Amino acid sequence: MRRGLPVSPGVAVGTAYCIDEIFVSPGTQRLRNQEIPAELAKYEAARDHAARDLISLEKKLAEQVGPDETAIFEAHRSILRDAAFNTTIPNWIVDERLAAQAALQKLLEQYTDVFARVEDEYLKDRLNDIRDVVLRINSHLSDPKDMNEDGVTGPLIVVADQLLPSQVVMLGDMEVNGIVTQAGSQTSHAAILARSRGIPAVSGVQDILRQINTGDTVVVDGKEGRVIIAPDAETRAAYLKLEREFFDFKDHLAENRDQPAITSDGVSLNLLANINSVTDAEAATAMGATGVGLFRTEYLYLTHPVVPGEEEQLREYVSIIEASPNHSVTIRTLDIGGDKTVPFMGHVHREANPFMGWRSIRLSFEHPGVFNSQLRAVMRAAAVAQEMGGDVRLMFPMITTLEEIRRVRGLVRKARKQLIEEGKTYADVRIGMMLEVPAAAISIGSMLSLVDFVSIGSNDLVQYLMAADRDNPKVSHLCQPLAPPVLRVLTDVIRTCTAAGKPLTLCGEMAGQPTAFTLLLGMGLRSFSMSPAFIPFIKEFARHITTKAAEQLLEHALTLTATGRIRRYMTDQLAHVVPDFDRFEIS
Ligand code: PEP
Ligand code: MG
Repeated sequence: MRRGLPVSPGVAVGTAYCIDEIFVSPGTQRLRNQEIPAELAKYEAARDHAARDLISLEKKLAEQVGPDETAIFEAHRSILRDAAFNTTIPNWIVDERLAAQAALQKLLEQYTDVFARVEDEYLKDRLNDIRDVVLRINSHLSDPKDMNEDGVTGPLIVVADQLLPSQVVMLGDMEVNGIVTQAGSQTSHAAILARSRGIPAVSGVQDILRQINTGDTVVVDGKEGRVIIAPDAETRAAYLKLEREFFDFKDHLAENRDQPAITSDGVSLNLLANINSVTDAEAATAMGATGVGLFRTEYLYLTHPVVPGEEEQLREYVSIIEASPNHSVTIRTLDIGGDKTVPFMGHVHREANPFMGWRSIRLSFEHPGVFNSQLRAVMRAAAVAQEMGGDVRLMFPMITTLEEIRRVRGLVRKARKQLIEEGKTYADVRIGMMLEVPAAAISIGSMLSLVDFVSIGSNDLVQYLMAADRDNPKVSHLCQPLAPPVLRVLTDVIRTCTAAGKPLTLCGEMAGQPTAFTLLLGMGLRSFSMSPAFIPFIKEFARHITTKAAEQLLEHALTLTATGRIRRYMTDQLAHVVPDFDRFEIS
């Protein structure tokens, strides 16, 4: 049994599916002589296809964001011209009778060995470029789902070093019941995606890829952070029972979808959903959310080879609005950067401190054309929402200063003027800021008059307050929403916004955790946005708790000086109040 960080609750038993092999299958069998010419031709066609892809991506990108941003594709084209792809691989296919995919795998392994000895971070990054090129060629050699032909059938447990958000999206069509990663932590985006799909997941399990092979039976316990490889019959049966119980529990809770969200003393709550896609919007409706409190638009960009244009964004936003509960959606502008990079937005080289660097609104300001097209698409989508009886709000991430809010307001006015001049149908939208930077938390009082609403992004706020990377399992003991300073800052912010009568939501992952939810309720918060899978549980949980009890629990929690003590105190107290409360709490 291996231990990791529990990042998405529930239990799953399934067949391991190691992510590297999704792209490059091991292909150990040697080719027969008569197969060699066809394999060579197949490889050369795939390589040339990859080269054509790069040229057209570069061209499209130059048109959309300017020629300066195309360096990444130029770099990839020059890698593709290297002898490795033009001599070495063809030689291996002919002389060593390797299948093209096996030859690509071998090349990647050789480069990985060489780069392991390199210390320079910039040079190390070149390995990622080589890897990208290999994957691009490979994508023209096979369908990624060919794996099933090798006998790997669902339900699957995906095992990876680190799941990129775009990969999780790609896995959407497959029967994935569990996820295990070597890197990542509770608020990394892969974990958030797993949670939004209700897939049990464990992160931070070091070197697990060395122990698990595709095809192994694996148990994932996303609540306790356990991974069991090749369980014996008894263990397997026990976990299958737990898995069934978990499904039944979720089904039972989903039955409360049409009940109002209300505390046991009759205070109404607003339970909203965090979504990344139309599938999530449908899940939000199915789970009984009253609207979408956070639509992360960057997933549209992450899954796209180039910047999506205004019309394409409009189509996507309208599909989201159609699928969302009450057609009510808070659309957040691009939050690229940090752990979500796209080469076409200028992320050619990795930054030393990506979460504190060129991300989010900072990046949008420097791509005025891209930003403008997003603002226009949102306002046009808002008109469609109005026709459906819904509404759209526009939210800006990572606001740090007052000047930034003034600047976005100016840009919204400009985009609106353009739409009027062009005679396009649009609707005015309410404008909000995400509060996720400590500087903004400190000066929130002076920012309130400039925004229509505030949404606390606690995932980032916690990592910045505690100076602990949300993606790094080694510091996850620090990156805790129940840490005393975090609770103090949240209490201040919530009280300031409430006193000013400013609409306020919290859309970080803590909203879906019963202990944190209770404390937020005690602070006076009434609007919560969370992964759709958590909504039925929080709705059920809230029915058992009064606001008065939540206030008292908070009052005592604020006197405690250690995170562990706060957690234990809350767990003990809540166990008396709400049966089964910890089934959805991540340990
Ligand atoms: C947050 O930071 O809390 C948040 C909701 O945004 P994201 O997780 O997308 O950074
Ligand atoms: Mg954030």
